Amino acid sequence: MEKVCPMFEKCPLLPKLSEEQREVVIKNYCKGNFENCARKKIKNSGKMPPADLMPDGSTLK
Ligand code: SF4
Repeated sequence: MEKVCPMFEKCPLLPKLSEEQREVVIKNYCKGNFENCARKKIKNSGKMPPADLMPDGSTLK
């Protein structure tokens, strides 16, 4: 079974990305090592990640 981030269906970042960006993020994080995602880490600590925070910790431009 494929492992997918539990936030995947409702993650507010994904609709903001270009198709190309989304493909990379999904491959590397959402359907890859999502525990490494900066958004997921903040979620895990019980806080809301900033809307434009990218999984690598940078800000979406
Ligand atoms: S961007 Fe991060 S928090 Fe959002 S669905 Fe992908 S792995 Fe989960």
